[in-house]
Amino acid sequence: MSSSQVKVPSEPFGSVLPFAEPAWYGSLGDTSPFYTDSHRRLRAYCRDYVDSFSHKAGEWEDKGTIPSAQYQEHAARGFVAASIQPFHIPSLKAAGIQLPANIPPEEWDNLHNVVLFDELMRHGFLGVNWALGGGNGIGGPPLVNFGSEDLKRELLPDILLGKKRICLGVTEPLAGSDVAGIKTTAVRSTDGKHYIINGQKKWITNGVFADYCTTVVRTGEEDSGAGGISVIVVPMHLEGIERRLLKNSGVNVSGSTIITFDDVKVPARYLLGKENQGFRIVMSNFNGERLALAVSALRMSRVCIEDAYAYACKRHTFGKPLIEQPIIQSKFADMGRRVEALHAWMEALAHQMHACGNTPQGKKIADMELGGRIALLKVESGYVLELCVREAQQIMGGLGYQRGGDHAGARIEQISRDLRVMVVGGGSAEILSSLGVKMEKMKADARL
Ligand SMILES: Cc1cc2nc3c(=O)[nH]c(=O)nc-3n(C[C@H](O)[C@H](O)[C@H](O)COP(=O)(O)OP(=O)(O)OC[C@H]3O[C@@H](n4cnc5c(N)ncnc54)[C@H](O)[C@@H]3O)c2cc1C
Repeated sequence: MSSSQVKVPSEPFGSVLPFAEPAWYGSLGDTSPFYTDSHRRLRAYCRDYVDSFSHKAGEWEDKGTIPSAQYQEHAARGFVAASIQPFHIPSLKAAGIQLPANIPPEEWDNLHNVVLFDELMRHGFLGVNWALGGGNGIGGPPLVNFGSEDLKRELLPDILLGKKRICLGVTEPLAGSDVAGIKTTAVRSTDGKHYIINGQKKWITNGVFADYCTTVVRTGEEDSGAGGISVIVVPMHLEGIERRLLKNSGVNVSGSTIITFDDVKVPARYLLGKENQGFRIVMSNFNGERLALAVSALRMSRVCIEDAYAYACKRHTFGKPLIEQPIIQSKFADMGRRVEALHAWMEALAHQMHACGNTPQGKKIADMELGGRIALLKVESGYVLELCVREAQQIMGGLGYQRGGDHAGARIEQISRDLRVMVVGGGSAEILSSLGVKMEKMKADARL
């Protein structure tokens, strides 16, 4: 289009309420350099899917269960396959599963991930989102990246089909942020054919219904730190495993679990990568997870704005709608500018991650060049969400504090309880702030 031509605004996609949708959904959305028809196709596909069940999400969260048919549909529509990246093509073929909207795997880029994470969070219930995809999304990638070809072909097709599920077990009662301090041990049997695992994992999302747990264990000496860590996929039906549900403030339906391993005998071929080199496997998972968490937090922020805005237009106080009050308008200004600025930064980082290339070498470059900023992006997404919850809850008055049901403040109230895990899980705000600056300093020092 030449500079003298006038752009005709296009039809917006989704909600037209202020800041309820990302900028590229708006009337100038087709001018975005990041998104193509392929992303738009995926967006429509996800929206259609989420619309089909979003009215039930609150009830599932309250009850703490999701019908298994919903999980089967999630898998059949390709969402389990999309959550386990990089894609393992032989397993996709063996399972006969297509990615959502039939996007070919070679066409899928990091902006497709952004669309996916964003749209799947649109119902507003983080617990439901994690119940459907939380474990697979973090437990599956280490298997694809570091498992033997035989192990991948053995385990992945059934996972992609929704017949089996996988989760990630890093955190323990005495070690969370300090991953190198984990205490769960795995000792090789004298014939070398098995590992004997003892220890405990805590807050493991989907742990209670997972068939496999990608488990971080100590294979080195007690004081071996990061150099004595390995990762083993543990089949959860084995003798000696006990699972107990944990009750948290939010994400009730996500299946947060404490897992105890008591002399659990796991075949040695379930080891990922090499013995004592598991720390980098754990670290390699983080950029993808942090981007996903940041995108989810952004959508949760938008849900808060959307519900609060709709309410502020309807609710009259002192003879006029709340939205007419300047101090209420200023709350939307605060939320809107933070959310939009963060979204633009997130898109730029997602694009740069993709531009580094989807090969092990490209991923290494992205980890080094972008890891610090992605950590800070995740931190900022938590702060923005805290602000949006605070202001939206305030706009709702008592309704923002009323638990359950499908009243106007229900999603905001739920998010007010879910949000704590967004500033702790996947790296806490303190740890990631420090990491972000360390990584940026390292890059600067190397180039000074
Ligand atoms: C709902 C939920 C789901 C989860 N899902 C999973 C899962 O699927 N798999 C899994 O492995 N884990 C999971 N976790 C665990 C999560 O990753 C940990 O809670 C997180 O890593 C923090 O560990 P911690 O809770 O032990 O806190 P700690 O590490 O004990 O930290 C406590 C506080 O101290 C701060 N802190 C720690 N060290 C420092 C430091 N050096 N400087 C400054 N401040 C510091 C932290 O920021 C935090 O505020 C989940 C947690 C929750 C609540």
